[in-house]
Amino acid sequence: MQPELSRERIVRCPKCRSDQITGNKRGYSFKQIGKMFITMIGIGLLILIISNLLRATLSTLLIEIEVLYLLFTTALPIAYYMCFISALPVSLLYGLKGRNNLINSCMQCGSQWTPK
Ligand SMILES: [Zn+2]
Repeated sequence: MQPELSRERIVRCPKCRSDQITGNKRGYSFKQIGKMFITMIGIGLLILIISNLLRATLSTLLIEIEVLYLLFTTALPIAYYMCFISALPVSLLYGLKGRNNLINSCMQCGSQWTPK
């Protein structure tokens, strides 16, 4: 008798403890798209704000140091433009990631979770 083992084999809903569980492929995740999109736009905005703030405070230094000047006038704008432009396609691709992962759904309460 191994009660521990048999209890583990039955998947139960973490919310209502029901054993009426179905496993499905997760499919395309709109939640992931949204998260990735907000993150990319956020990073772009952050670079934009920081570079503008630094450019304002370091303006005299920037003229003297060519590398810094190039960084603020070329590299950083490219970086945030890339973030904005690629935000949508990257997010859409990111939504595909893990679409074949299995998720369990409870037929009793409708709760969904990823099996470990
Ligand atoms: Zn449930």
